[in-house]
Amino acid sequence: MMKFLRKKNRKIISGILILSWIFTVFFSNDALGNTNDDLKVYYLDVGQGDAMYIKINDYDILIDAGPRSNVEHLMKQLEKKNIDDFEIVIATHPHEDHIGGMTEVFDRYKVKEFYMPPVVHTTETFRSMLNAIVKEGIKAKPIKEGTHFDLGCNATIDVYSPIESVYEDLNDYSTIMKLTYGDVKLIFAGDAESYAERAVVKKHSKELKGDVLKFAHHGSRTSSTDEFIKAVSPKYGIICCGENNNYGHPHKETKDIISKYDIDTFRTDKHGEIELTSDGKNISIKTEK
Ligand SMILES: [Zn+2]
Repeated sequence: MMKFLRKKNRKIISGILILSWIFTVFFSNDALGNTNDDLKVYYLDVGQGDAMYIKINDYDILIDAGPRSNVEHLMKQLEKKNIDDFEIVIATHPHEDHIGGMTEVFDRYKVKEFYMPPVVHTTETFRSMLNAIVKEGIKAKPIKEGTHFDLGCNATIDVYSPIESVYEDLNDYSTIMKLTYGDVKLIFAGDAESYAERAVVKKHSKELKGDVLKFAHHGSRTSSTDEFIKAVSPKYGIICCGENNNYGHPHKETKDIISKYDIDTFRTDKHGEIELTSDGKNISIKTEK
């Protein structure tokens, strides 16, 4: 009798082990197309400028680095995130309020890949960024319509603009891109002006639908055209701008379009750092202030 029970127990135990092995191998989160990690996007507070840090799967990504005048605050915010290195750094366009902090980023962190639109600038800030890239031992890669990043499980970035090779306005070279994580889509518009916005709507209107929009050009009236906002139709909006900035950003016209499309909008000048979390289905937004 005792012998029979022991034999039976052994069978049950080995049955459980086999089942748990099958479950681990065939039904793990990864096999089901989910990940264990949430997407994190931090719209950092760098005053009048842009800087965004994205953490997804094994990727640490930085989009822009704010102005030189706020680089210490940028570094403080990045240090809290325990970033070891950046797999990808993107400069959306070569204006100081987007690349002013780049040399410091290269000084503090290893940067594996660096991307910028195919345009040069004559400023000292731009030159010092190029020097930092050379010092890092990497080459700047062009980012433009068609650039695609595969960020591992369920996550990609698709770039829709710049489309043309020459623009009159440097802002129009801005990277307009979509980060997709599961069902969640986030649009980043750099400082694209109405010209680039209209061009991207003409070619990519269906792909521009997003849950969250980082408004172009700090909420300037020269961007956020009706057709672009309609194509994106975001539930949430983010405006990166400085408190009492000299430009009056965000402009009344942008606030009007935000009301028209009923976009729940957060601003770095009012809310400080904005932290977005997503499991690929739901979005939650937390603000510093
Ligand atoms: Zn700007």
